[in-house]
Amino acid sequence: MAHLLIVGGSDAGISAALRARELAPSADVTVLVADHFPNYSVCGLPFFLSGEVSDWHTLAHRTLGQIESEGITVLLDHRAEQVDPVGKMVAAVARGGRCRSLSYDRLVIATGAVPNAPAFSARRLPGVFCLRSMRDAFVLHEYLGRFEPRSAVIVGSGYIGLEMADALSRAGLSVTVVVRSSVLRTVDPSLSDIVRDELSRNQVKVVDAGSVTGIEKDDSGGLSVRMGAQASVHGDLVLLATGIRPETALGETAGASLGVGGAIHVNRGMGTNVPSIYAAGDCAETWHRLLGRYTYLPLGTTAHKQGRVAGENAAGGHAEFAGSLGTQVVKIFELVVARTGLLHSEASEAGFDPFTVDLESPDHKAYYPGATSLRMRLTADRRTHAVLGAQLLGHYRAEVAKRADVVATAISGHMTVDDLLSLDLSYTPPLSSPWDPVQMCAHEWLQVLGGSGSPNMKS
Ligand SMILES: Cc1cc2nc3c(=O)[nH]c(=O)nc-3n(C[C@H](O)[C@H](O)[C@H](O)COP(=O)(O)OP(=O)(O)OC[C@H]3O[C@@H](n4cnc5c(N)ncnc54)[C@H](O)[C@@H]3O)c2cc1C
Repeated sequence: MAHLLIVGGSDAGISAALRARELAPSADVTVLVADHFPNYSVCGLPFFLSGEVSDWHTLAHRTLGQIESEGITVLLDHRAEQVDPVGKMVAAVARGGRCRSLSYDRLVIATGAVPNAPAFSARRLPGVFCLRSMRDAFVLHEYLGRFEPRSAVIVGSGYIGLEMADALSRAGLSVTVVVRSSVLRTVDPSLSDIVRDELSRNQVKVVDAGSVTGIEKDDSGGLSVRMGAQASVHGDLVLLATGIRPETALGETAGASLGVGGAIHVNRGMGTNVPSIYAAGDCAETWHRLLGRYTYLPLGTTAHKQGRVAGENAAGGHAEFAGSLGTQVVKIFELVVARTGLLHSEASEAGFDPFTVDLESPDHKAYYPGATSLRMRLTADRRTHAVLGAQLLGHYRAEVAKRADVVATAISGHMTVDDLLSLDLSYTPPLSSPWDPVQMCAHEWLQVLGGSGSPNMKS
C-alpha cells in the first residue's frame, strides 16, 4: 500500500490528498500542516476583516472532521524541515519542539508562498502587518478590535491591497493606498484609471510614491510611511501588500530545482526533478496555456488544480496540468475587474500579432432597470483571429466574472473571435442582450480590424 506524504494543508495540499484517496481508497495519506488551519479559504480573509463575514470558522472549505472522514491523516502544527530523498524520509518538528521522522513512498510539497515584505520592514514595528495566513488575519483583527485605529496605510495596490482598502474602509478606517507604478497593474491603464476613480469615490486616498523607503513611529504615536527624503504618509496601522514569494525552503532541502520566479520547477504532471517528489500550488511554477511555457501565477484556482494533478500522479496516475490563463477577478467597492489570457503588450512580447479593441455597452437591456456600463477590452491575433485575452470592468452585479469566463473558455478551446460571435449564450433582458456584451465586443473587433468602423449590434 503506497504511503503518500503531503506537506501543506491549504488549497494545493488538501486537493492532492483528496484526489489521491479518491483514486486509491486504500492509500495511506498523511498531510503535515505547519499551522492549525487546514483547508481554510485565505481568499476570504479580507471579507472577515471587513466584517462582511462575521465568523472566521465559516471560511473553512472543509472542516478537519470532513477531511479526516475521507481517510486522510492530518498532523496539525507539524512543520516539515528537511527531506531525505534517498531514504525517503521527512524530518518535522511538532508544536512544543518534538522532532518526528516520517517516511514516504511519494511526497507532495505544497508549502505555498510567504509575503515578500520589503527589506526595510525586516524588523517589523508594532502596527505593521502582512496578510497571507489565517494567523496574520487574527493578529490584524485583534489589533483592530483592541486599539481601534482610525487610519491605515496600505503599501501596494495589487488585488490584495485593493481588497483590503475596501475591507478597512468598511471597517471604518480612513485608508491611504501607496502606489508604486499604477493601481492594479494586471490590467491596462484605461481600466486601472477607473479603479483609481472608484477608490477616490469611496474616500480612499491614493498616493503615488515611486518607492517606499521606510516605516517609522511618528510623534502622534502612529506610523509614518516614508517615500524618499521629503514625503511621508501617516497611518495608525500599515499593511504591507507588496506581493509574495514561493516558499521553497523544504523543496530545496530535497534538491528540487527552482525555476521561474524562484518557484519549484515542475513538469506538466507536477513532478519535480527529484524522483517521487511532486510540488503544487503557490510554491511551484505554473504552465501557461497560451504562452506554452512556465510562469509564476500564484492563485487559489491554480493551486486547487495543480494539487489535484499532483495527488493523482502521486497515487500512480498519469494526469497533466492543463495550464493557467491567469484568469482572475477582484471586487473593489461596487466595481469588479476581471482578466483572462494576455494583455496586448504581453501578446506582442510573446510573438503574437495582437489587435485590441475596447467597447462600452450596457450589461443588460437598457430598458430594464439597473442597467450599468460594462467595459471590455478584447485582444486577439490579427492574422488567425485566435482569442488571446480580455479585460473587463463593471458594476459587481454586471456579471463581469461570467463574461471573463466565457473568454477563458474560448481561449482554452482555441476559438477565434468569429467563433465567439456564434456562441449560443443565454439571454433575458434583466441579465443580457440577444448579443451578449462579449459578442458585441467580438463584433467590434472584427469590424474595426476589417476597417468597417463602428458596428450596429444593439438588438
Ligand atoms: C488575502 C488573500 C486573498 C486571495 N484571494 C484570492 C482570490 O480571490 N482568488 C484566487 O484565485 N486566489 C486568491 N488568493 C491566493 C490563494 O489564496 C493562494 O493562491 C492559495 O492559497 C495557494 O494555496 P497553496 O496551497 O499553494 O498555499 P498556501 O495557501 O500558502 O498554504 C501553504 C500551506 O503549507 C503549510 N506549510 C508551509 N510550509 C510548511 C512546512 N514546512 N511544513 C508543513 N506545512 C507547511 C501552511 O501551513 C499552509 O497550510 C488570495 C490570497 C490571499 C492571501
